[in-house]
Amino acid sequence: MKVLVINAGSSSLKYQLIDMNNQHVLAKGNCERIGAGGAITHKTDSAKLEYEVTFPTHREAFLEVVKVLTSGEGKVIDDVKEIAAVGHRVLHGSEVYKVSTLITEQVISDIESFSELGPLHNPPQAAAMRACRSVFGPETPMVAVFDTSFHQTMPEKAYMFGIPYEYYEKYHIRKYGFHGTSHRYVSGHYLEITGKKPEGTRLIVCHLGNGSSITAVQDGKCVDTTMGFTPLDGLLMGTRSGAVDPSVLTYLANKEGLSPDEMSNILNKKSGFLGVSGLSSDARDLVNASKEGHHRARLACDMVRYQIKKYIGSYAAAMGGVDAVLFTGGIGENSGELRTDCCEGLRFMGLWLDEKENGYNTGSDHKISAADSPVEVWVIPTNEELAIALDTMEIIGR
Ligand code: ADP
Repeated sequence: MKVLVINAGSSSLKYQLIDMNNQHVLAKGNCERIGAGGAITHKTDSAKLEYEVTFPTHREAFLEVVKVLTSGEGKVIDDVKEIAAVGHRVLHGSEVYKVSTLITEQVISDIESFSELGPLHNPPQAAAMRACRSVFGPETPMVAVFDTSFHQTMPEKAYMFGIPYEYYEKYHIRKYGFHGTSHRYVSGHYLEITGKKPEGTRLIVCHLGNGSSITAVQDGKCVDTTMGFTPLDGLLMGTRSGAVDPSVLTYLANKEGLSPDEMSNILNKKSGFLGVSGLSSDARDLVNASKEGHHRARLACDMVRYQIKKYIGSYAAAMGGVDAVLFTGGIGENSGELRTDCCEGLRFMGLWLDEKENGYNTGSDHKISAADSPVEVWVIPTNEELAIALDTMEIIGR
């Protein structure tokens, strides 16, 4: 059985076709510049294609994906009917979608209605679902997998902000959390490979990439997470500020005469690693520059590592202890140096690394804590596409 996984943005459509019999990725690619020209990259085990093609809307992009999957050098299936179902990544499910769901017209309208909560993602994702249905037909089931769902188990005390309650009632302002599919996959995968039961196990999942978040998982459920009402909260990220004293924003807006949109642009696009270092939003660039003595690059690295360590400590306190810390995402999986710094000084809570193990970047699940460390530390590569495909299979199987 083959599942097509879709991650749509306003001008892009990323896809993966996964053979669920062996979880092998048959093909993956990206349609870019939708609405403004167009180009596709497509990769299979034996071919790598890249060419320009006009994509006025997501529908033309889907038509091209079908064409490239079923014909020419990039062909991996004979007929589109071999695709049993399509799984769509969705940013925001509000408080309504607590688990993944079969897509109906009602679900698409709901996703559109949450657009104020996810203005950049929900509208194109809903549009992509409609385009997909028009290309694949109603007989191909589609499933929506929400980035927010996994965090819906947070208790009220963790998700409410200390502002007048009426704003929660009027505008649904609360912490939602994001990267839920990754946190769920990584925590679930850890339990699977170690044979531990969710009940009684306390995990801290550090998803560190261009966007980063940390989640406390107790009894298999999210109890707290660092991202908030939007993905801006929590850790310093590539271009996002992470948590800032809210008064800084009103002060700065007054001083510089900034509108809310301009402020949002600064916090989302010009802050984080880029804003602090003045150099780059890419963690590797900062690591290299800091080795050459670039003070602000070093500062950005130090800030995020210090923040990660503080969240590990605070989430351990929130759960009354921790059994394992799991690192994932481009930075979490690849930077042994960052993992060392984040775990340094945590021996008091029973956590220390095996530096030799931590030095290997194996690209696969890998325990990096010392054999006698009571708290385990692992690197577990995330696989959001597989998680979406597994949910899709499960839901269409029902
Ligand atoms: P996204 O959040 O866009 O999915 P990724 O999870 O792929 O991003 O993470 C990208 C980040 O991972 C970039 O900042 C990149 O520099 C960083 N990264 C990749 N390899 C390394 C490495 N060896 N050391 C430090 N950072 C790394």
